[in-house]
Amino acid sequence: MNTKVWKVDKFVDIFESNPHIVDAANFLRENEVVALPTETVYGLGGNAESDEAVAKIFAAKGRPGDNPLIIHIADREHLNRFVKEIPLTAERLMDAFWPGPLTIIFKKKEGVLSEKATAGLGTVAVRMPDHPVALALLRACELPIAAPSANSSGKPSPTSAEHVLDDLNGKIAGVVDGGATGVGVESTVVDCTDGIPVILRPGGVTREQLAAVIGEVQVDPALMDGAERPKSPGMKYKHYAPNAPLYLVSGTSEFFQRIVEEKEREGLKVGVLTTEECEDLFDADVVLACGRRAELETVAASLYDTLRRFNQMKVDIIFSEMFPNEGVGHAIMNRLLKAAGNKIISE
Ligand code: AMP
Ligand code: MG
Repeated sequence: MNTKVWKVDKFVDIFESNPHIVDAANFLRENEVVALPTETVYGLGGNAESDEAVAKIFAAKGRPGDNPLIIHIADREHLNRFVKEIPLTAERLMDAFWPGPLTIIFKKKEGVLSEKATAGLGTVAVRMPDHPVALALLRACELPIAAPSANSSGKPSPTSAEHVLDDLNGKIAGVVDGGATGVGVESTVVDCTDGIPVILRPGGVTREQLAAVIGEVQVDPALMDGAERPKSPGMKYKHYAPNAPLYLVSGTSEFFQRIVEEKEREGLKVGVLTTEECEDLFDADVVLACGRRAELETVAASLYDTLRRFNQMKVDIIFSEMFPNEGVGHAIMNRLLKAAGNKIISE
């Protein structure tokens, strides 16, 4: 399959009448799958009402069929088409954070969406992306669009059209290239179906921001210790992994450097994932600074690109700094721990 690339400017090509947007929307209406920029990562969009389109999403990504997709909308009115009830807490969260990196789980109206999109669950995950190109495309096709991250399942998520093409070129109808994404980690997933809202996946909207709007918010215990079965089906899978094994290092920079040198003596090409502030503390084959510790948003924004750059540099092993588990650091640590298969080396 020839994968089309529509180059758009996210400040200019933001109307549903734009020829590139119209063309991409036509593919979506014909149940083809198209990658699109959002403010978090690139999504792989398909008509959420069509089994055919949704099957193409799972096939292109190699995604396990029991991992449901997030449905993207541009208009809150559209919720009523496929959501059974909208609790007050969800209303307040939508008022505060939509459009934005917050996915809300609702009870589902039966018979509207493809069963494959929701993996047969009685609930549905929905969000309104805060990206002018994504919103224009959603308005142009007038469909609820199922869109997981536009990467091969298990790999780091894509934050540029190049990342999408690295994984999916020839497997999808096209990609709308709107440049690099902003937040860099996926949306926060919050379950609002049963009493106090529960964070199932940390992401672009922080626990602190949610609590400021709705007061009490819980975190799925499975996110803390990994012992319990996660409530979000996708959280049990290996994710975001670079090609080389990744270890998180807890300890002083001297301890970190000793580990690096040990592996180099074994003849391995060693990569270090660090930050601009700490870059000079390390001497290794490949040292990549991933944003600034003092501003964790910058770490989130370049995390997946940095993991992919280690693949290009063909390192044998990667050691990474750890980050504080608060604010957007909660999402960064969640992704890093998954990418590392929970491997931490402590001093
Ligand atoms: P991705 O599309 O790769 O960003 O992943 C979507 C995330 O949302 C996965 O972790 C899914 O398991 C989760 N998700 C989607 N739908 C539901 C749902 N109905 N209930 C709980 N989690 C969901
Ligand atoms: Mg994903």
